[in-house]
Amino acid sequence: MTKKDLMYEGKGKKLFKTDDENLLISEFKDDLTAFNAEKKGNESGKGALNCKISTEIFHLLEKNGIKTHLVDRISDTEQLVKKCKIIPIEVIVRNVATGSIVKRLGLEDGKILPFALVEFCLKDDALGDPFINDDHCLILNLVQDETQIQEIKNIAKKINSILTPFFDSKNLRLIDFKIELGLTKDNELVLADEISPDSCRFWDKFSNEKLDKDRFRQDLGNVKVAYEEVLKRILN
Ligand code: 5GP
Repeated sequence: MTKKDLMYEGKGKKLFKTDDENLLISEFKDDLTAFNAEKKGNESGKGALNCKISTEIFHLLEKNGIKTHLVDRISDTEQLVKKCKIIPIEVIVRNVATGSIVKRLGLEDGKILPFALVEFCLKDDALGDPFINDDHCLILNLVQDETQIQEIKNIAKKINSILTPFFDSKNLRLIDFKIELGLTKDNELVLADEISPDSCRFWDKFSNEKLDKDRFRQDLGNVKVAYEEVLKRILN
């Protein structure tokens, strides 16, 4: 597969065209950003760690019936993926209250939620990724219809129900995560982007130590060590 022109550069990845119009190469960057890119950093080797972690998780999800854009990992930092049109909604699933929901709703940090909460944010950096509801999704034409909203929520909940016990078996608590979905050329809804410590919160099951991007957000140090630990536990 030949890597061709850069098609898109995001905060965490670059997307390149290939000689197959339906396939792209997704290159994971070492850059770290937080608070809508107001805070910027770089951690050498982070891209390779996220590429490996995300590949493992996507393979696990595929085995459990979730359709994804992933074809395969083709190098330390690159995946071959199916080209898809990203639905500009960040779908967030929360099992435990922390982060923005604590600030927004005054919930106690660390409170276990009675059921998995699915939230939507508009994927728009200029607007600061605001929270939106089902009606906003329809009015903004982000989705085809209400059925598609339900489909998105069902996929998000199914991913949570696969990943929560998986990470529990690795002594990690899956606190929350963000996913993005896309539509392939055949109009198939697939999981796209990545699932990694950049887009999830993982706490150690026993100590509640944070093993994710909150180490960067909150200046806790040892960012790469935490990501290495997540990969090690996934592979174990
Ligand atoms: P919160 O809304 O508490 O900031 O984030 C909830 C979850 O979604 C966290 O796991 C966080 O990492 C993820 N998340 C929210 N917004 C973004 C984003 O713009 N990029 C990434 N990579 N993850 C996000």
